[in-house]
Amino acid sequence: IGNENAEYLVSKIRTIPGFPKEGILFRDFMPVLADARAFGLLLDALEAALPVAADEFDIIAGLEARGFLFGPALAARLGKGFIAVRKAGKLPPETVSESYDLEYGQATVEIETNIVHEGSRVLVVDDLIATGGTARAAASLIEKCGGTVAGFSFVMELVGIGGMASLGDCPTSSLITMP
Ligand code: AMP
Repeated sequence: IGNENAEYLVSKIRTIPGFPKEGILFRDFMPVLADARAFGLLLDALEAALPVAADEFDIIAGLEARGFLFGPALAARLGKGFIAVRKAGKLPPETVSESYDLEYGQATVEIETNIVHEGSRVLVVDDLIATGGTARAAASLIEKCGGTVAGFSFVMELVGIGGMASLGDCPTSSLITMP
């Protein structure tokens, strides 16, 4: 997307220290979405940086909640469908779920039963990868349903905590690396 555009895109990412708790630098990309030029550039950049060619995946899965904000737009651009990977308890009864450990406690993600077709190749998207726990749980969920993860695409990557490496050999991409 070029240097000037990349700078413009990055300038729309806001950092909020101490949210949701002390010691966390919260990386907020909401201002990107609120700005027509930045939102367009975000989609251009994600498309240009896809970790696998568009014909190597069938559908995009977005992680709640911020993966829902651009995943469907990217999917529509690429002529793909979209699957929502939700936090526990949000979907009507028939779901497949996967629990994973957080720094304190556990979290569970769910998808609707039968929404991932057998053999379907899925691109997983989210705004940010930190430890990779959420992305790994989503990948297990997709595999439980008979799908395969074709790749992971993130807007931001927090460095130094091994999130990307924890995803193993699977192709990954992130647009912006942050401390
Ligand atoms: P993790 O499972 O540790 O990779 O955390 C990734 C999930 O937590 C993503 O859905 C992010 O939106 C959110 N997240 C973690 N750390 C941050 C942060 N510093 N700023 C914004 N979101 C974050």
